[in-house]
Amino acid sequence: MLSYQHAYHAGNFADVHKHLVLFTVVEHLLRKKSAITYIDTHAGRGLYSLASEEASKLQEHRDGIGRLWQARQRLAGIPLLGDWLAALATVQPSGRLERYPGSPWWLSQGLRAQDRLCLFELHPGEHGHLTHQALPANVRRIHGDGLAGLLQGLPAPTPRLCVLIDPSYERKMEYGEVAETVLKAMRKARHAVVLVWYPLLPAGRHQALLDGLREGGLRKIWRSELTVARRGSGHGMHGSGMLVVNPPWGLEERLEGAMTSLMPLLGDAGRHQGSWWVPE
Ligand code: SAM
Repeated sequence: MLSYQHAYHAGNFADVHKHLVLFTVVEHLLRKKSAITYIDTHAGRGLYSLASEEASKLQEHRDGIGRLWQARQRLAGIPLLGDWLAALATVQPSGRLERYPGSPWWLSQGLRAQDRLCLFELHPGEHGHLTHQALPANVRRIHGDGLAGLLQGLPAPTPRLCVLIDPSYERKMEYGEVAETVLKAMRKARHAVVLVWYPLLPAGRHQALLDGLREGGLRKIWRSELTVARRGSGHGMHGSGMLVVNPPWGLEERLEGAMTSLMPLLGDAGRHQGSWWVPE
């Protein structure tokens, strides 16, 4: 049963963290001409109205993208953040923050003729929305299971591969399933750059994902964790985590600068830690 809908959470601090890391990785990959296949295993609907009934209910975007948007003039000169906010401004026709783009949009922005992008979404309603998004012709939208689809699609037809795995973790088992899928995928595509998002929740279930990857023998896993509240201070998500397998060179330095500028905007408890979970 799929009950999670990202429209309630779009543009929250976790989206900002996830999409900033994604943006930095993609920007780095685009420095070389050789073709890239991008696979987004859990695409969502692609673009979210922040005025929708869903977004208005929890207003999570206010403590996420809302804070950056308000400070955008000050952040404009900061490497990575400035470019990221400038990209975001292109989907605000009125000049006000009204929409927040999801991973399909962030991935499609730099898509070149030689690249391809494959978007999986299992929820029929979300997939329906995704099919109505204006995206380049070399984007495929598939109504189906993203983890199975990823494994079926490997090896990729291009020299390079970049995968985003961003589940809703509605089921406890998903942490282990993601780890298993990444291990299988890396056997088929050793040089793939794989990004995996996970929530930091009081139950700490993401540990199964982290341990599964390490115990499976995978190397070169870099981890970025952004916390916005102290663990145990409530029942909700206190932070956002992102793993990058085979991270592009320089990712850590580039992201650290952006995170240092971003943290004060996210409140007193805002912290970022970037480090190797498993080194080379
Ligand atoms: N990646 C999106 C973004 O950054 O904008 C957000 C994705 S949201 C966290 C997770 C999405 O995965 C939901 O839209 C949900 O319907 C979808 N989903 C859940 N299980 C799935 C599966 N097995 N395969 C593909 N999509 C799935």
